[in-house]
Formats: sequence, C-alpha cells, structure tokens
Amino acid sequence: MSEHLAQGCTIEVVAVNSESFQEAAPRLRLRVTTAAEAALRAGHPWVFAERIRQQSRPGQPGELAVIYDRKDRFLAVGLFDPDSPIRVRVLEAGQPQPIDGAWWARRLDQALERRRGWFDEQTSGYRWINGESDGWPGLVLDRYDRTLALKLYTAAWLPRLDALGALLRQRLRPERMVLRLSRNIQKAAGEQFSRTDAELLDGAPPPGPVVFRESGLRFEADVLRGQKTGFFLDQRENRRRVEARARGRRVLDAFSFSGGFSLYAARGGARSVTALDVSAHALAGAERNFALNQANAAVASCRHERVQAEAFEWLAGNAARRFELIILDPPSLARRETERAGAIRAYERLAGLGLARLAPGGILAACSCSAHVTAEQFFAAVRQAVARSGRACRELETTRHPPDHPATFKEAEYLKAIYFEV
Ligand code: SAH
Repeated sequence: MSEHLAQGCTIEVVAVNSESFQEAAPRLRLRVTTAAEAALRAGHPWVFAERIRQQSRPGQPGELAVIYDRKDRFLAVGLFDPDSPIRVRVLEAGQPQPIDGAWWARRLDQALERRRGWFDEQTSGYRWINGESDGWPGLVLDRYDRTLALKLYTAAWLPRLDALGALLRQRLRPERMVLRLSRNIQKAAGEQFSRTDAELLDGAPPPGPVVFRESGLRFEADVLRGQKTGFFLDQRENRRRVEARARGRRVLDAFSFSGGFSLYAARGGARSVTALDVSAHALAGAERNFALNQANAAVASCRHERVQAEAFEWLAGNAARRFELIILDPPSLARRETERAGAIRAYERLAGLGLARLAPGGILAACSCSAHVTAEQFFAAVRQAVARSGRACRELETTRHPPDHPATFKEAEYLKAIYFEV
C-alpha cells in the first residue's frame, strides 16, 4: 500500500516538472546591475526590469530565468515575467538547485509545515501560502474550510497551473479549488492561457458563499467575487484583541466590510455594535454573518445596527454619537508611492475624527493596510492626531502581520495597527 502511495506521489511530482516551453530553448540567462546583485545576495525576492543588463534571449511568462553575477557565478533562479516591471521573482538564491517536481513539493510542504499547530478546528479559514514571504512569489493560497482559493498576482504562474493544481490537490485534498487573478493579469490570462478569474480548478461550484470558522465564529466568504480571496483573513489577530476589549462597550466598526470586527466585539460582550461601510453589499454580508452566529448567546443578545455611509463624512457629521470602542480599518489609502503623503494626512484626519467620537475611557483601534505607508509613518500620524486632540490618551500597543501572513521583505509589509485608550 505504501509503495503504491509513494508511486502515486512520483507521478504527481513528475507532472509538476513539465516545462514544455523549455524543452525547445536553452535556459534563459540574465545579468543584472551591481545594485540588483547586492539586493539578491541580501535575500530580496525581486529583480526589476530596468536592472537587467544582459538577457540571453527573449523569455516567456513563467519560464525559469537564471541570474549570474559578473564573475559568472550563480546568483538566483526565478520565474520570468516579460510583461511585469518585476521581471524575475526569485525561487532560489545562493546555491543552484534543480527546480524539479521534488523541489516544488518540498517548497509547498515547508509552507504547510510552518503553520502546523497554529489553528485548531475552531479556525478553518487562514492563509496557507503568503507569496514571496513563503517562497511562492506572486501567489497566495487561502483555505476556507474545504475550499481553496488560489490567487495569482503574476502571469508567470499560468503556464504552471495544471502542475500546481495537481500538487495542491494531492497534498491538501480540497473539495474545490477556485482560481482568482489580480486585475492586472486578467487580460493576458484570457488571451494567452484561456484562464479566467473565478474559474473552478477543481470540484463543483459552491452553492453559495463558503462558510468557514475563525476563532469559533462562523463567517461566509465570497471566494468567487469577493475582494482579496473573499475575506480579510489578515485581521484575525486584531479581531481577537478587539473581542478582549469589547465588554460593556458601544462599538463602532468603521469600514466594517462583512463585520469581522463586529462579530468578535459582539461575542466579547459589547453593549452594541454599529457596522459602518459605504457598501450595501458588504453590510448585507455583515447581517448574514450575525445570523450565522445566533447560537452564541453574546452575539444573539448584542444590539447591532448597520449604517451605510462614507466613513469620513459620517464621523465628521455625527457629533452627538459616542462610542467606547472604535475600529478604523479603511482600505488602502495609498495605491501608489505618489499617494503616500496624502494617505498619511488622511490617516491622521481619520484618527482625529474617531477620537472625537470616543467617550472617556474609550479605545481606538486604528489600522492601515497601505504598503506605501510604513508602520512608523502610520503610527506617527495616529500619535499626531492623539496629540492634536488634546485628550489624555495612553498608547496600549501596536501590531503587525499575523503569523500566517508573514512579511520577509520591506515591500511585503502592509498591515499595522495601533491601539489607544482615552
Ligand atoms: N474591517 C474589515 C475589512 C475592511 S475592507 C474586516 O475586518 O473584514 C475596507 C472596507 O471599507 C470595504 O468593505 C469597503 O466597502 C469600505 N469602504 C471603502 N471606502 C469607504 C468609505 N469611504 N467609507 C466607508 N466605507 C468604505
């Protein structure tokens, strides 16, 4: 039996290795600028297009490119993407290694192994693979109970999708697997690889939103159409902190999306929860998530309301309303580098608006998911708002990425939060 299984593995593993486009052409070889060499030696996972000095031939999306230094020594091997400013995403640096089926299987097992013991059956939604920081550049794999959502941020994965699907199927045995594509690769995916966003790679389409557990609470995820892969799994740890501080408080969950923070606050014993979002669709999801958790007495007895409004305006306009716990979790306010300064001002303004709505003894939880604003810049903006408010506040703590969303290099760091008590 075990022999049989082992054989099965080998077959799958060989499939992962198939790189048909490489059989015809010699290996793609690159040389890069001194700065890029240094970055690669320091472990940075990207080579930008303008840093390539020599290229042995034109390359195709997803083929392996080997980078040599000026003394012709191996520096790194990675996935080539001719259509992206991030031209190579590093798979292996330092020591040359055959990137074969066994290598891919090992790489997957490392990500799975890293998470062993982190989640029990109370949490069936979390991230299995977080891109570069897990050694899988431009690729995210989320688990929602028995559904896998595979999200690609580079077309380089598309020619490898069959092989990758086979490996994931073999290791994780999902009921279904959904392919999600970042907006910038959807056109090429359709034209060059006949792949579409929300395509099913495996299993039957979900009958509706997929329901999973997070810390014992039930949530739905719209894995086919939702933002990211359908839920903001990255906020689990902050939600737990909010739950621990919610007892007896009137809570405002601003930028609530489907009510992740709201549900934790309700279970934590909040006196009331107000979910505020500009999207009616998001608020409808929050309502369904409350309905999914009525078996929990604290959730069932918590008064909750939904407010559909633009958050800055609502906070500025409702001068009479007071809360004892306010969560501010806006979408990224800086989509690009040039928007950084404006975003920092907006964070400071938002924190100020939140502080003005806090009752004495109230707690502010301010979050940022803008990669272009560093944690220190964000914390400084919120501290500045606190100073300007003239209220006596105590800084409670700051948080960064949760463990299943590791960030091993600067550009991968986006999530941070800071807590204040008035
Ligand atoms: N806190 C959520 C995630 C927030 S995502 C969670 O834990 O799951 C950001 C949310 O902000 C989205 O739902 C989006 O609809 C909403 N949003 C975006 N701009 C907004 C605005 N100006 N005012 C209010 N909500 C906004």
